[in-house]
Amino acid sequence: MVEEVSKEKPLTIDYTPPLKNWMEPAVEFRKGTYGYPAAPKHEKYLGLPNPGVWQPTDKDWKLPENWKETILRGIKDRLGRYRSFRLFLDICVRCGACADKCHFFIGSGDPKNMPVLRTELLRSIYRRYFTFSGRVFGKLAGARDLTEEVLKEWFYYFYQCTECRRCSVFCPYGIDTCEMTMMARELLNLLGLNINWIVEPASNSYRTGNHLGIPPHAFKSTVDFAVDEIQELTGVTVKVPINRKGAEILFIAPSADYFASPHWYTFLGYLLLFHEIGLDYTWSTYASEGGNFGLFHSADLAKRLNAKIYSEAKRLGVKWILGGECGHMWRVIHQYMDTFNGPADFLEEPISPVTGTHFENANSTKMVHLCEFTADLIKNNKLELDPSRNNKWKVTYHDSCNISRGVGLLEEPRYILRNVCSGFYEMPENTIRERTFCCGSGAGLGSDENMEMRLRGGFPRANAVKYVKEQYGVNLLTCICAIDRATLPPLLEYWVPGVDVAGVHELVGNALVVRGEKERTTNLRGEPLTGGDGEDHV
Ligand code: SF4
Ligand code: SF4
Repeated sequence: MVEEVSKEKPLTIDYTPPLKNWMEPAVEFRKGTYGYPAAPKHEKYLGLPNPGVWQPTDKDWKLPENWKETILRGIKDRLGRYRSFRLFLDICVRCGACADKCHFFIGSGDPKNMPVLRTELLRSIYRRYFTFSGRVFGKLAGARDLTEEVLKEWFYYFYQCTECRRCSVFCPYGIDTCEMTMMARELLNLLGLNINWIVEPASNSYRTGNHLGIPPHAFKSTVDFAVDEIQELTGVTVKVPINRKGAEILFIAPSADYFASPHWYTFLGYLLLFHEIGLDYTWSTYASEGGNFGLFHSADLAKRLNAKIYSEAKRLGVKWILGGECGHMWRVIHQYMDTFNGPADFLEEPISPVTGTHFENANSTKMVHLCEFTADLIKNNKLELDPSRNNKWKVTYHDSCNISRGVGLLEEPRYILRNVCSGFYEMPENTIRERTFCCGSGAGLGSDENMEMRLRGGFPRANAVKYVKEQYGVNLLTCICAIDRATLPPLLEYWVPGVDVAGVHELVGNALVVRGEKERTTNLRGEPLTGGDGEDHV
């Protein structure tokens, strides 16, 4: 329960399996372990089916009369459209290699949070209605009837999966439970069973350009405020172009970067970097959001939101796109963009205007990750950096799931960090790179009402941070995902107090020696540059 989430009474993890057969669904919607349902006005705004008022704790979920038919038709339709769906439902041998790899199982001890059993919740329905053995042998073949209780169980457990794909790294067959979660969420949406912390941000992105609902004039005011702050901190006046037609590059970042904390300092880092290299670029108020909350809802919604970035690139007449420190924006670009809206042939092959490097990897999407771009600048000695300005930090790096497993961007952030700070320490090997542990709050699970599950799911990540804190005195966890920057601070405050969170480009902005700057006496947070305790890289 939410009340349990206090330092005085830490969460307990009970790994005793329940006596009840897993096939009998029985979900207890405890406060603190689920997200609130979507508000109908946001569902209507997006044109989603069956908007209505209901609560998970209600007995009657006000399902449409033909709900069962709708779900079965939805499964049939997706079996026809996605080969991976049928394949992943058919080939699991229940070896259990994935069972203890999910952070939600580790943090909750609930067997239905084992990836294998999570998928079984859906697979059992597939067997019952779409396989011969299931139709004939029923429970003996692992099949069960589709009931309202099963639906409730889907809602609970498929919104206790952050779609992080850690389990798929360990599955000998490559079964991707994240894709099963995506299918289940699509099916739930057919009945209007959505959570608000997905649908509202998605609808805001349509209405105002970004998930926080910040209108264009407020975006402009925020930018002006950042310009003033940079002036005060560094003595440098940066120009921040917005909606500028004919710029060479369109820059897209998650909206939290220009609104939330500690994201804000990463935003200042972006602006300083672009100023220093004289980048010919623009922000957009229409595409003022990199994050794609549609990905957590359905392929259709993800496609619609992704299209905004490309239609804005076309309208502004830029040559290519640069993308900031965001997680799921990059997963959509890397894994789905080409199928959704690509290839972006109306744009040009991205070439760094500073180093001349051709980003051939982005030939199809025409979108380059800022860490690739900055690492290339550093490699070509185009930046003057003073790592001692980050000496107050002993730094570790959290591989965001979407960036590491979803995109394969592993080295560039580390390369940057080793150049902008003197004390960088890796967390244990089985918790980083492809095997990174999720923050526990991605894929729409980052709402306050879901805090107990977030703290449980984030426990393995926090435990690894605790290790480097105790071993090396690490006091800063860096990451390149806006959801991480929002959700890791409360997680660390609970499990590992004394460790702050920052974006990689915040440290770039601290270390960057900008032409014409005054002597820096503070970092971008306005804190004194204490210095002196940085150590060699490890
Ligand atoms: S590791 Fe793969 S095959 Fe084994 S139980 Fe998990 S999903 Fe099934
Ligand atoms: S995708 Fe991540 S959250 Fe979902 S079952 Fe696998 S490990 Fe757990």
